[in-house]
Amino acid sequence: LTSRLGSVFEGLKRRGALKEADVKEAMREVRLALLEADVALPVVKSFIKTVTDKAVGAEVLKSVTPGQQVVKIVNDALVEMLGSENTGLNLLGEPPVAIMMVGLQGSGKTTSTAKIAKRLTEKERKKVMMASLDVARPAAQEQLAVLGEQVEVKTLPIVPGQQPVDIAKRAMQAARLGGFDVVMLDTAGRLHIDDSLMDEVAAVKAAAGPSETILVADAMTGQDAVTVADSFHKRIGLSGIMLTRIDGDARGGAALSMRQVTDCPIKFLGTGEKMDELEEFHADRIAGRILGMGDVVSLVEKAAETIEQEEAEALAKKMQKGEFDLDDMAKQLKQMRKMGGMEGLMGMLPGVGKMKQQMAGANIDDKMILRQEAIISSMTKKERQNPKVIHASRKKRIAAGSGTSVQDVNKLLKQHLMMSKMMKKVSKLGKKGFMRSLGNMM
Ligand code: GDP
Ligand code: MG
Repeated sequence: LTSRLGSVFEGLKRRGALKEADVKEAMREVRLALLEADVALPVVKSFIKTVTDKAVGAEVLKSVTPGQQVVKIVNDALVEMLGSENTGLNLLGEPPVAIMMVGLQGSGKTTSTAKIAKRLTEKERKKVMMASLDVARPAAQEQLAVLGEQVEVKTLPIVPGQQPVDIAKRAMQAARLGGFDVVMLDTAGRLHIDDSLMDEVAAVKAAAGPSETILVADAMTGQDAVTVADSFHKRIGLSGIMLTRIDGDARGGAALSMRQVTDCPIKFLGTGEKMDELEEFHADRIAGRILGMGDVVSLVEKAAETIEQEEAEALAKKMQKGEFDLDDMAKQLKQMRKMGGMEGLMGMLPGVGKMKQQMAGANIDDKMILRQEAIISSMTKKERQNPKVIHASRKKRIAAGSGTSVQDVNKLLKQHLMMSKMMKKVSKLGKKGFMRSLGNMM
């Protein structure tokens, strides 16, 4: 893989916007990487198209090649598609809430049921009961009972001959009486999607009314992932996905395929046969694994950091000269927000506990910073460089454009004035004096 990618990424380094030809060339490699990772073909196609549109015209960072820049854009798009939000399990509702595990035979439902039950018991202090509804495979119910003993989670006693819907009802009833918080329902699978399986699972769902219906799928599923996820989602309605055997060789393309056809979050990953081999889903890790170009991604990230560093240094120089316009202020606000707002920033300085308290009172938070950024971005270039020209009518326009009030605009302008005055002082005072004058301002 690496040798093939080499050709694209050894291209000339240049700055400027990505041209369509750059993007197309790099996308050829990305396409192969996705197919090798077993992302389903239709998903690859639509993904490539979306990202191509996004990438053309994007800026190429200094010191990276256009191909490398494309890979970074692809990586970020992958992370976004895989879902950067980590949703956890929905356990809202009157207890006992049911969590239903569905999927093909051998996908890892029973194992995953016990893993999740263990986690809920130990980490979330829930009272959990498990029940196996698998009456198709011999000894399937006993398998869950054994795992239950191992993880010290109660399982519903087995009644021979009882059918899945009745077992589900009995489980809910027993859990209600026993004061359980959660009932994990481990359903039967089949080797392939078939109607009798779907009917059975749908009936169980109707009887139990689960708050989560999780499709368990093997990371090796490959091209079939789309069909499996699509069938289950259309017929049963899923709320989440769990991908097992991520500890194997599979690159995890199924995650992208299934996420795309169902739009359901991927909640967990199974990373082995042992009961604690369960991980929460992290989109960036799976994206890296699917794309297999981690080196390129971190290279571009490093380049971006370097540029930020350079910008910060340039800003510092400008400040010293007392040239501090609203563009510079916007840059500073953005950096401040990245560092966790004013509070995060102050927290890094020694001996500012008291000041921090005062700041909390002044309500300087992320929302306020965002509002200030919005105000600045509603100004024209001329206004940003020379705030003196901003009179009443311009203030009105800026307020309307940023969804704020004239008062807010005034406040921001005043703050800018104060900051630029302070900047001039700082260069004379040195670091200690800077902290003192900052303290006086608050
Ligand atoms: P079910 O038919 O869907 O209930 O699947 P099982 O839970 O019985 O699992 C089938 C096999 O896969 C068992 O041997 C499990 O130990 C194994 N298995 C399940 N999850 C994982 C996983 O995340 N990694 C690995 N390596 N094996 C797993
Ligand atoms: Mg099973």
